[in-house]
Amino acid sequence: MTKLKHDWTREEILAIYNKPLMELMYEAATVHRKHHDPNKVQVSTLLSIKTGGCPEDCGYCPQAARYHTDIEGNDLMSVQQVKAQALRAKASGSSRVCMGAAWRNVKDGEEFDQVLEMVRTINKLDMEVCCTLGMITENQAKRLSEAGLYAYNHNLDTSEDYYKDVISTRAFEDRLQTIENVRKTNVTVCSGGIIGMGESIFDRAGMLVALATLDPQPESVPINALVAVPGTPMEDMEPVSIWDMIRMVATTRIVMPQTQVRLSAGRTEMSREGQAMCFFAGANSIFAGDKLLTTPNPDVNQDMEMFKLLGLQPQAPFVKKQQPETVEAQDSQFGALGEKPRWTRPGHTIDRNEQAKAKSKMQ
Ligand code: SF4
Repeated sequence: MTKLKHDWTREEILAIYNKPLMELMYEAATVHRKHHDPNKVQVSTLLSIKTGGCPEDCGYCPQAARYHTDIEGNDLMSVQQVKAQALRAKASGSSRVCMGAAWRNVKDGEEFDQVLEMVRTINKLDMEVCCTLGMITENQAKRLSEAGLYAYNHNLDTSEDYYKDVISTRAFEDRLQTIENVRKTNVTVCSGGIIGMGESIFDRAGMLVALATLDPQPESVPINALVAVPGTPMEDMEPVSIWDMIRMVATTRIVMPQTQVRLSAGRTEMSREGQAMCFFAGANSIFAGDKLLTTPNPDVNQDMEMFKLLGLQPQAPFVKKQQPETVEAQDSQFGALGEKPRWTRPGHTIDRNEQAKAKSKMQ
């Protein structure tokens, strides 16, 4: 097996990002072919199992309770509702279901027990199960692992430097701590970020340094283009250019050769030609379904048409890693500890977040 490089510097990553585009794409495509089947794309379906009302202040997110957006919030879905949606996702070609809850962090109790039951249920459908639930403790990671969780998503979002301009209610180190907690289990790590939030290329490289120097590197890295939702602090951001997206995907592929590079939010704004160039440059995963949590996403039929056109095929589940076993609730070794971890609350002021909050109060 190829030994992966883990000591990437910002300068090295910037030098890759800024290469002439054809050279960058060719290099990324070469790395891609060495580590993956270039005609296979992993397809995930993202389900928002608990929408809106989040106490965090992420400047890009329509689910933050403090901003006035048009999303309809809902309480935690039932296990049966989730199972029905997972079956639909499986029938339409998804190998993974990713369940997102708009929580700051997981709290032990009935709701988390319900999520654990959702994990058991979907794993038994022979689909990869991923959760994105906010910050989690080591014990909570172990409980999810026991239930049969395949992946935990926890995005770094951006560079450590720029993080302070996006979120004030938690710190970058908290993200790394949750990833470390997940790494103490068999659950794989999915962590990436968003471009188009006003960050510099230096910040994009900084985020990739933070991800690529993790050992092991995340098994999955979503690259999102900001969807500027009215009412959020980032509503007026300029759309991300396809060229930036291709450069980001290609650079991610080169510095993290074995990871699944996931084309995530912002795909509705991308042409098929643009997406094809991203696949050529090393993207090998997408989210399917007409919604990504709360923002629009291409319809699954359109994606399947695109796959046909490009000769791509959905990747089967558990190709990269064996299916985890599910331990039933009554046989669990790791019960609820009722921990109250002290996750950081930096609480500094971010002008655009404050302005969006003030505007929301007037509505
Ligand atoms: S991104 Fe997640 S943590 Fe941040 S406000 Fe949205 S739901 Fe909450």
